[in-house]
Amino acid sequence: MGSESYEEAIAALSKLLSEKADLGSVAAEKIKQVTAELEAAAADPTKFDPFLVFACSDSRVCPSHVLDFQPGEAFMVRNIANMVPPYDKKKHSGVGAAIEYAVLHLKVENIVVIGHSCCGGIKGLMSIPDDGTTAT
Ligand SMILES: [Zn+2]
Repeated sequence: MGSESYEEAIAALSKLLSEKADLGSVAAEKIKQVTAELEAAAADPTKFDPFLVFACSDSRVCPSHVLDFQPGEAFMVRNIANMVPPYDKKKHSGVGAAIEYAVLHLKVENIVVIGHSCCGGIKGLMSIPDDGTTAT
């Protein structure tokens, strides 16, 4: 990843941590750990551990472009609204297979979910009534 992209990612994470004091301590600690790994990778690209990245299919937010990933730095799953479905052997098998491959074979220890503003997928999810009915 390019140093500017690291700096942007680190600044965004720092902002998130400062604004979201209600984040659980475990989540906050994990964000700090990932931030430290990103900083270490920026300082020495040879010590980079690969990430599994969930990102939206929206072409405006290509994670390789946004975070300046080079080939081999990130294993990606892209779908509408960067969804990470619950574990199920029979449903969502494509995403499950990607997670299994990344964790078991690529030895990925960090999974990053990248959301973005003006996401049509999230807008669609938020328009579903609380009672679960669908609009007709
Ligand atoms: Zn989106």
